[in-house]
Amino acid sequence: MYLVNCWIEHSNLKVNKTFSYINDFYIEKGIRVRVNFNRKDVIGFVDDCIKITDLEKLEENLGYSLKYINCVVDEKSVLTEELFELGKWLSNQTLTPTISCFKTMLPKKIKPISNSGNAVKIKVVKSKDLNGKLTLKQQKAYDFLKFNENITLNEFRNIFKSVVKSLLEKNAIEIYEVEKENSVKLKNYNMSDDLILTKEQKNAFDNILKSENNIVLLNGVTGSGKTEIYLQLAREIINQNKQVLFLVPEISLTPQMVQRVKSRFFNDVAIYHSGLNDQEKYEEYKKVLNNKVKIVIGTRSAIFMPFSNLGLIIMDEEHDLSYKQDNTPQYHCRDIAIKRAENFGCKVLLGSATPSLESYARALKGVYKLVELNSRINNKMPKIKTVNITKEMKNNKNYIISEVLKEKIQDRLNNNKQVILLLNRRGFNTFSRCQNCNNVIMCPHCDISMSYHRDIKMLKCHICNTTMPYPKVCPKCNSVDSYSSFGFGTQRLEEEVKSIFKNAKVLRMDADTTSKKNSHEHILESFSKHEADILLGTQMISKGLDYPSVTLVGILNADAGLNRVDYRSQEIIYDILTQASGRSGRSDEEGEVIIQVFDEDNYVIKSVLKQDYKTFFNREMMYRKAGGYPPYNYLISVVFSGRKKEVINNEAYNFKEKLIGNFNILGPSELLKINDQYRFRIILKGKNIDEMRENIQKLLNENTFMCSLKIDVNPLVLD
Ligand code: ADP
Ligand code: ZN
Ligand code: ZN
Repeated sequence: MYLVNCWIEHSNLKVNKTFSYINDFYIEKGIRVRVNFNRKDVIGFVDDCIKITDLEKLEENLGYSLKYINCVVDEKSVLTEELFELGKWLSNQTLTPTISCFKTMLPKKIKPISNSGNAVKIKVVKSKDLNGKLTLKQQKAYDFLKFNENITLNEFRNIFKSVVKSLLEKNAIEIYEVEKENSVKLKNYNMSDDLILTKEQKNAFDNILKSENNIVLLNGVTGSGKTEIYLQLAREIINQNKQVLFLVPEISLTPQMVQRVKSRFFNDVAIYHSGLNDQEKYEEYKKVLNNKVKIVIGTRSAIFMPFSNLGLIIMDEEHDLSYKQDNTPQYHCRDIAIKRAENFGCKVLLGSATPSLESYARALKGVYKLVELNSRINNKMPKIKTVNITKEMKNNKNYIISEVLKEKIQDRLNNNKQVILLLNRRGFNTFSRCQNCNNVIMCPHCDISMSYHRDIKMLKCHICNTTMPYPKVCPKCNSVDSYSSFGFGTQRLEEEVKSIFKNAKVLRMDADTTSKKNSHEHILESFSKHEADILLGTQMISKGLDYPSVTLVGILNADAGLNRVDYRSQEIIYDILTQASGRSGRSDEEGEVIIQVFDEDNYVIKSVLKQDYKTFFNREMMYRKAGGYPPYNYLISVVFSGRKKEVINNEAYNFKEKLIGNFNILGPSELLKINDQYRFRIILKGKNIDEMRENIQKLLNENTFMCSLKIDVNPLVLD
């Protein structure tokens, strides 16, 4: 008899602990079972399994009788031992129930949940030892099978019509089912060879390899050849017969990166990201679990792949916000990368042209090894200039595209070059106001103004996607046709560009044009083939693109986000502007960048102009220190939300009262309403993150709450 302790699938479970059942035989850790819990049949996830000799005595000690598990779901554990422990660690780090962490880590088909769905199976054919005689036709098919093991029944039937039945009757073949394996179809790219590293690249490469510190930050300006270094490091590790994980922020935005990895490592590559369907994810996961691939390229969720022999983790654009998960558990991929590298005793390489302040500060302190690349491969940094839009407006000039930018775009069009235009606002207009009473139309469910979208002729909320028609009559003052729209988004910019440059081909890339699967790839591929002259869009187009014909980047409304209250808004804007600028002039010709701003004197804009990360870093660190923000202190944010404002406010106050320790507590402060949910937030701020965590964990264990709580340890943004 065995005592089986398992984690139970249950969303309402506040208590973060295992429950005990019994079984006649031993069950391995990480196997899913079905058990009864509160009279329901639910999935459990086996943690440990202990032999018991005296059940009666055990039950007597426990004070209740134990139930049998209903059945075992998996043949083999779906998690490695290392991942199992990682799940528990993650629970602790993010203050999330362990079962939620396991759910996050696993692809849907093997999640510990009831509706996970089954793996897709296919029929394959195999030859058996032959006893009788075959006809000529049958013999041919039979021989074919000897050289084509495990061909699918469908393929076999297509080649040898009408022999399957007779071969089966003669007991010459058998048909059996296997799990489907190769649903993810990647284009076959031409193989490419390693480039010869420049002296600076070679130096960096050597320093990374021989670093005694296993956490390395590679800070290299845009176009300095970081990717080439990643690929050659990967080769080095694969040659040692170890696995490599290559993390990128968003795969659909960087099809070029997949192409570069694929063209070097061909069939040794697995790919993992949120764009895959459940079956595809499951297959890719199994490929890694069964050690069938050597390198995995993927986004945030790929950090949970079941490696057994990991030799290197590369995290490209380590500063990117998409590495942080928004839902519970709100983990940061970088923290897990560092933890797993520690588990495997391997290196983790963080790469960026604009490292997060946290990482760069750690590198300067020697916590991470710092390796830098200061020049571009082509030795030509782009020339960056600002245009003061306030002045343009005063002179009654076009305030969307300045004269200077207009001229430069025309110049590129004349010379058959390409242009990228960044405007970090989608829609046509950004808000609508009544000319009579100044009423601005807000979303009925959220505290933000509605944006006008001309394609659907509707106002749209960018938080909850509610749409409504443009009001004919003002709901406040009853004036008729009194509304005008202001501000401009990418749709308006597209119209403007097309009306000025009548012959130019223009592509727009933003959340509205990329809602369909693979639409990102189509737009980028078309641009890379030079089927369009101008690519315009939101910050999606600022990442990682490497197109040799792009020699001009224009950034519109560049300082729009700088006056947000969030402590990281300056850093975010600096990153976007620098990364977008970095798309210009990456090949033979020097690039140019035009940044349109309202305030040229802002230090963020000035540092972008000078292409000087260090000056920006030092200045920004001063502000962070003065405000006590990261990396000088740790933060934990707790957001209380629900439909009844008073209740939520009270819960937040009560929570705050019960916190005691060597840290500051800010708030509760009211946040913007979202989806009809009122929200209040408190922030813990201090040097001892463990103490802060323990405090919150204790309150979670000891209390029940009248509203929902969202806990974010080390929040990246606080807006
Ligand atoms: P980063 O990742 O730092 O932005 P990339 O690796 O994309 O830079 O390199 C910029 C460009 O220079 C790419 O087009 C790449 O093919 C090219 N490149 C990189 N390393 C070399 C090299 N050693 N020799 C020639 N070209 C290189
Ligand atoms: Zn009005
Ligand atoms: Zn809304």
